[in-house]
Amino acid sequence: MASTVPAPHDQPNVHSIPGPVPSLPVPSLQAPNPQGLDPVLLDVLACPADHHAPLRLGSPDDPAAPNLTCTECGRVFPIRDGIPVLLLDEATSSHGGPSLDSAGR
Ligand SMILES: [Zn+2]
Repeated sequence: MASTVPAPHDQPNVHSIPGPVPSLPVPSLQAPNPQGLDPVLLDVLACPADHHAPLRLGSPDDPAAPNLTCTECGRVFPIRDGIPVLLLDEATSSHGGPSLDSAGR
């Protein structure tokens, strides 16, 4: 016959969390870049053009400039008050070429 195995109530039926839960320090909102832009935000931003290429901080001339530069078409988008203005109308071409949409005003 099967011997009855007495369940030893040695261990409590609760999951004991090993050690104190490390409380994540509240990330100080000091931006790691001079543009004051959240790097996470930068990660999800993309060029509004059809290629939706990723953007990188700064302008080709000045990496610390408050701009975002498209890695594909080279459009430079301004950052105003920490808000990137991803509008083709607001973009300037880093190439200086006249090929951008030059809609007359
Ligand atoms: Zn682009």
